[in-house]
Amino acid sequence: MLKWDGHTHTQFCYHGSDAPLEQYIEQAIAQGFQRYSVTEHPPLPTGWVNDKRLFDELGMPEHELNDYMDYVLKLKKRYEGQIEITVGLELDYLHDNQEYTDKLVTAWGHVLEDVVYSVHFLPGEDGNYCIDFTADDFKSNLLRYYDSIDVLVDLYFDHVELAIEQAGRLPMRTRIGHINLIRKFQKHLPTFNEKQFQIRLEGLLPLLQKHGVGVDVNIAGFRVASCEQEYVPQWFIKRCIELDIPVVYGSDAHKPEQVGLYWDWFEQATSTS
Ligand SMILES: [Zn+2]
Ligand SMILES: [Zn+2]
Repeated sequence: MLKWDGHTHTQFCYHGSDAPLEQYIEQAIAQGFQRYSVTEHPPLPTGWVNDKRLFDELGMPEHELNDYMDYVLKLKKRYEGQIEITVGLELDYLHDNQEYTDKLVTAWGHVLEDVVYSVHFLPGEDGNYCIDFTADDFKSNLLRYYDSIDVLVDLYFDHVELAIEQAGRLPMRTRIGHINLIRKFQKHLPTFNEKQFQIRLEGLLPLLQKHGVGVDVNIAGFRVASCEQEYVPQWFIKRCIELDIPVVYGSDAHKPEQVGLYWDWFEQATSTS
């Protein structure tokens, strides 16, 4: 199996570390990674979330996207022969604003090799809210509005399904990001209905197959104290492998020291024996 980290961030992320990408890549090389996909959060449409301070942290400003691409391309060249760096983005599924993401892809599709397509937002009473910002924000702006965790989970998976369709239209390698992100604050939320998760996850399998989209086996859930669980369950990984749906490890590193975390778990989860 190719040792590949398919989901990582850089200093162009405003809620991560300002350590330069070189430090992440050196970590990856030291751990024997052969391919390393740089998948930064892109800019978002102005006012996508109401909270201006949060908005500024979610994605880089539009004028930096060019610098980001240049920088990753430069490092791709510099590390050639040591590790394969691939140029990517973690695109957001923007409900009702698909044109924004389409424009990014039109502008950069010729450079992009890897896209992680993620659902980070759900609509609330007066705009969009992050499902992964804080437990309190989740409770007061999403849970209170929908008044039921089951309704919220269903809506989340409806959006994941739409995201898979959107990802399937893109020409480069695509993976659906951290499919169980809605569980990030699970320890602070009403109990989830496990049967519902199983049904909704199973429902994704034929869609992933049909649209040729892979799965970001994102291990960041392990590092989050309110989650302490993988975002992609092992049974789901096994089903993907049986159905030839690509499963790619994703450290979702927002700091150099997070590169490669839980690789052993991934290796074990994907071993067919
Ligand atoms: Zn991030
Ligand atoms: Zn993400």
